Amino acid sequence: MTNIILLGPPGAGKGTQARRLVEARGMVQLSTGDMLREAKTSGTEMGNRVAEVMARGELVTDEIVIGLIAEKLDTVEAAGFIFDGFPRTLAQADALQDLLAAKGQDLAHVIEMQVDDAALVARITGRATCASCGEVYHDVTKPIPADGHCTSCGGTEFTRRADDTEEALKTRLMAYYKQTSPLIGYYHAKGLLRGVDGLAEIDAVAADIAAILES
Ligand code: AMP
Repeated sequence: MTNIILLGPPGAGKGTQARRLVEARGMVQLSTGDMLREAKTSGTEMGNRVAEVMARGELVTDEIVIGLIAEKLDTVEAAGFIFDGFPRTLAQADALQDLLAAKGQDLAHVIEMQVDDAALVARITGRATCASCGEVYHDVTKPIPADGHCTSCGGTEFTRRADDTEEALKTRLMAYYKQTSPLIGYYHAKGLLRGVDGLAEIDAVAADIAAILES
């Protein structure tokens, strides 16, 4: 059982690498961002509140995201979980440790995807996602094919996130540095932190992550 966290600012490539690991290793991706985007469309009062917070680029409450992860860990069996976008606060990190311990599990690695802010604006503002399979595209580096079909599933609908704007990105980055980056020290102290160069090519980053998983 190899459970890992992908840690890094918005646009670092966590979702892209998580998808690769799902395909290559049959691990299960647990993305609180994806779960919250689903909840958002539920039309419930909670969904609407969450939508506003996300559009601004702020973090939703620990209680909500810990609840979402707890429910998944209760109901999903996997050869290994990839935590993508969770934990984002120290309280969430403590909760995750307790939830895994209750299942007799732990974390194998926390992989910090290192990037610089200048690259993030360009990455985030050109981003589009296949509505049916979640494959990630980028206007400059990986455009949607000219025939309009997703290379992964053939889907023809693509979405852009409401918070993938320069304005919301500023708030998301601030949230990362203030609330999430303390996790780097937290996991370093536990001997779990590994770093990869998130600015390298997608395949090279995937190879670095594979090497960590095999270490
Ligand atoms: P992501 O898809 O990971 O970039 O997440 C999109 C947005 O969902 C974030 O900007 C937050 O508003 C919210 N979100 C996702 N994961 C968390 C989390 N672990 N804690 C708090 N808010 C989160």
